[in-house]
Amino acid sequence: MNGEPDLCIGGQWRHASDGGTREIVNPANGSIAAVVDEATADDARDAVAAARAAFDDGAWPGTPVAERAALLDRIADLLQRDKEDLASLETRDTGKTLVESRIDIDDVTSVFRYYAKLAGVEADRIVDVGDPTIISRVVREPIGVCVLIAPWNYPLLQMSWKVAPALAAGCTMVAKPSEVTPLTTIAFAHLLDEAGVPPSVFNLVQGSGAAVGAALTDTAAVDFISFTGGVPTGRTIAETAAKHVTKVALELGGKNPHIVFADAEPESAVDHVLTGVFLHSGQVCSAGTRLIIEESIADDFVAELVARAEKIRVGDGMDPASETGPLVSAQHRAKVEAHVQQGISEGAKLVTGGARPNDPALADGFFYLPTIFDQCDRSMRIVSEETFGPILTVERFTTEAEAITLGNDTEYGLAAGVRTSDSARGERVVRALRHGTVWLNDFGYYTAAAEWGGFGKSGNGRELGPTGLTEYQEIKHIWQNTSPQGAGWFKG
Ligand code: NDP
Repeated sequence: MNGEPDLCIGGQWRHASDGGTREIVNPANGSIAAVVDEATADDARDAVAAARAAFDDGAWPGTPVAERAALLDRIADLLQRDKEDLASLETRDTGKTLVESRIDIDDVTSVFRYYAKLAGVEADRIVDVGDPTIISRVVREPIGVCVLIAPWNYPLLQMSWKVAPALAAGCTMVAKPSEVTPLTTIAFAHLLDEAGVPPSVFNLVQGSGAAVGAALTDTAAVDFISFTGGVPTGRTIAETAAKHVTKVALELGGKNPHIVFADAEPESAVDHVLTGVFLHSGQVCSAGTRLIIEESIADDFVAELVARAEKIRVGDGMDPASETGPLVSAQHRAKVEAHVQQGISEGAKLVTGGARPNDPALADGFFYLPTIFDQCDRSMRIVSEETFGPILTVERFTTEAEAITLGNDTEYGLAAGVRTSDSARGERVVRALRHGTVWLNDFGYYTAAAEWGGFGKSGNGRELGPTGLTEYQEIKHIWQNTSPQGAGWFKG
């Protein structure tokens, strides 16, 4: 960063092989937050080769589980030691508020603590084959060389969901953060060095998806690709990986319903609908962007939402007074603006927002006001397509069955919320929804110990929880005969 080498390949910190760099822009004011090395495809191939050698010939895959777990705990300690520095770096890079960035670092820490514990839990299984001379064991082994590709909205958090289980399992890896937001991942790589991750076990190459991402995925030298990002990129990676029959886990987008019944507790419902969609200016894969509300309370509820949305303080994430920050880039804001125009032209009723803030102090940043569209229906693209911005659409229902149909009417299936004071109905609806996470009378929470991932086009595979570790393991059956005798098959 800023002259220091930023690529970590084969245990060495290096500049890009062609000397290329990239300016990282602070989305709150358009200033240059840092200049970082931009890897080439050759650098990416070097990183894969280093990870391959470390897996095939190195000691890491065979390192005792207790040592791996201790390393994960040391990483967690260092994350907490550097929490303030990492949080402010994340805010400068992504624009999110410092409060959110601090929560991210705590969440990242908890993921390392969780996998430190889980790594030590004996997962092997003895199978009774009905013969006392046979010992039949099913054991788990590291899957091998992993490529870890993360998006820009939660750079360190998304990367840590991959790195922690990969290290716990005994894998080696190449990490590629988004070219837009690499700063915390670079700082994190230094921290892994300090914690004692052996050389070449963790390699870092930031650079463009088209060059570096493609070089990391189009190779037979990789055993597993874990990708978080958009559907088009996920599809490209899956197609590329299929050529090499490489295992892939995809965490993709979402268009997440938040269903509010008339008997929902009103104050918390308004609060959670707002937080669910406008946190981090809506740049959250699980954002509750579709409010699906019972007709009888809809008008009053939407009026209250609008009044509260207009009070949300949009500003620089470093300013403690700001409640939400900017969009990540000028390019992304242009995409959000186009989406809003699309909603207007489809006939959705814009009831608040739909513009940049007019505060001159925010003119150089990529800010956009919290925006609500009423009178929406599921034929509209503003309802079906992911915007990844601060946009809430409102649809209405009259029956429980209709609410479920609307909630499931999406090609995605990442997350959903349900609000009702009728517990039997709550249970019926959460079970009927086809989404990877469903919150009942809450929204947005997760824990390192529970699986995260999507149904439908929200991807395949799971992160976090025990399954998040299994993704990084191969399963081997060992059949041992303690009293070998001839098979007696071919008698001649
Ligand atoms: P992208 O799909 O554009 O990019 C994600 C990552 O893939 C980036 O590191 C990108 O690099 C890289 N990439 C791009 N092209 C290729 C390629 N051909 N081969 C390999 N890698 C490539 O997504 P965004 O960064 O725009 O993130 C937003 C998306 O991520 C949204 O759809 C969101 O819903 C989803 N997401 C899903 C989450 C989940 O848990 N399901 C969580 C967070 C986000 P570069 O940036 O350098 O181009």
